Amino acid sequence: MIIFAVMESRYYSIRMHAGRDGNHLSGAERLVPQEEVETVAMAMLQRAGEYDPSSLKISVDEVDSDDIVSGALPNLTQVPVSDVRTGREKAIQALLAAGVTADVAVSAIETIAKGASPDGGNMRGAMLIDAGTGARLEPDQARGIRATRMDILPELFPRLEQELEKKDLAHHRTREALILAAKVLAAPGIIAELCWSDDPQYTAGYVAAPGFGYLRIPHMKEVGDPHGGRAFFCMPGFNLESSIRFLEETPFLADRIGLIGDKSGG
Ligand code: AMP
Repeated sequence: MIIFAVMESRYYSIRMHAGRDGNHLSGAERLVPQEEVETVAMAMLQRAGEYDPSSLKISVDEVDSDDIVSGALPNLTQVPVSDVRTGREKAIQALLAAGVTADVAVSAIETIAKGASPDGGNMRGAMLIDAGTGARLEPDQARGIRATRMDILPELFPRLEQELEKKDLAHHRTREALILAAKVLAAPGIIAELCWSDDPQYTAGYVAAPGFGYLRIPHMKEVGDPHGGRAFFCMPGFNLESSIRFLEETPFLADRIGLIGDKSGG
């Protein structure tokens, strides 16, 4: 039934990028049926306007419905920590549980914390890191790997919003990160993801892996810190071309919502 619904509609990838003087200010990424393109593009325009950008790009590209891959959103668990040191320790423990080597987990956190781009700033996308050796495998260390073309089936969108709201997680960042993590975890060869925002006011981050889902950690950096980033950890020796192609090109629609746990982790 769900597959039928996907195939019936034409789907479009809508991307927004707003910047000022060459610096990134705001971005958004949706994959929606034709009838929602206008509403979603208008909402992006409005969101970008709040940042006072000097340049704004919105692109709309039709995707081939036959290429759409579907999968579940990971369960979300909130990790109750009250400071950055404990938050990062929890993130390291989670990465170890996902199969990332200890040194590699620590170094990924240090790299994001100091700015993972060669110029010491934030990358535009994610690092791709060998989970065993720590080698950085993304072809361009400033751009990184961009996960694009992902969303949730439109009929599930209101329920996801409600479930997140019930747990005080109504911020659009949480919904978008959960959907992005679902696609990342569905990518061939990827065993875990680490992320925290580059927004100086937004301190939360997460570790996601197929075994335990999405662990939301409220303190991954101090308020006012402009650094943030993402790391996708891959199995040693994996054919990276297929992982990168999946992450950057294959359209992905989540067709199931996972559990959204409360602050006690339940
Ligand atoms: P954000 O959560 O939007 O503040 O993004 C945090 C960091 O994740 C950014 O600084 C980028 O390095 C990275 N990032 C943002 N969007 C993507 C994406 N679509 N794919 C991969 N990495 C991303």
